[in-house]
Amino acid sequence: MPSSSSCDPPKRQRVLLKISGESFAHPGERGIAMDEVALIARQTKKAAEQGVQIAIVIGGGNILRGAQFTYGTTSIEEATAHYMGMLATVMNGLALQDALESIDCQTRLLSAIRMDAVAEPYIRRRARRHLEKGRIVILAAGTGSPFVTTDTAAAQRALELDADVLLKATRVDGVYSDDPERNPHAVLYRTLSYHDVQQQNLRVMDPTAIAQCMEHDMPIVVFNYKQEGNIERAVRGDRVGTLICSEAVLQRQGDDEQTKTS
Ligand code: UDP
Repeated sequence: MPSSSSCDPPKRQRVLLKISGESFAHPGERGIAMDEVALIARQTKKAAEQGVQIAIVIGGGNILRGAQFTYGTTSIEEATAHYMGMLATVMNGLALQDALESIDCQTRLLSAIRMDAVAEPYIRRRARRHLEKGRIVILAAGTGSPFVTTDTAAAQRALELDADVLLKATRVDGVYSDDPERNPHAVLYRTLSYHDVQQQNLRVMDPTAIAQCMEHDMPIVVFNYKQEGNIERAVRGDRVGTLICSEAVLQRQGDDEQTKTS
């Protein structure tokens, strides 16, 4: 059994998991594929069994993205389309909630846009209470305000719910120097600072989300949830994907690793 020392990072207590809407559909398709949702639910259940509190922000890109929906359309205002995008995340939230409850997980669906028949209103203190009681909290309708994305909602909720880390589940292994599907020489980064992401204009999360995490020192882990067990590993704090944090934290980690190996 691995021994723990004072150098080991503290055990995670609460995490914010961001799952994009695309994860709810088969690759290249739209809508909700319940086998994909079930895969996420099974992995999330295993992760929660480790005793870590889990809040999930879900996207809606599998159904509708505000910015894309208005493109070339004159009859719909952009703000309306963004609200439609937020409603899409509620549909995904309902699907994930049932998938989790069907495998005996306790959940609560909280919506930033009031929708009392299907979800509780998002109230920060209530969300925290659910988490403390061991319920998986699904956060739908993004921030409740148009013109941003669920990445920004994820950063916002991670901060206000005092999460230890923001985990961004994707279909690629982490952050690459270029699109790995188009460029075979693209390099996978193991660690990056917030500044690296901004300076190299890496497409990790939207710029507002990165800026918010940077301002408040919220670490981000970008990882491939399709690899079996990865949600569990990411929640536990094992090294998966790409870690994004401040230069000072990266420096400290490098020093710790050198101490351990010397
Ligand atoms: N959205 C919004 N405000 C928010 C969160 C989301 O207006 O706080 C809208 C926005 O139009 C976005 C859509 O909802 O495109 C769906 O969310 P997102 O694109 O982030 O989903 P994902 O890419 O994660 O599937």
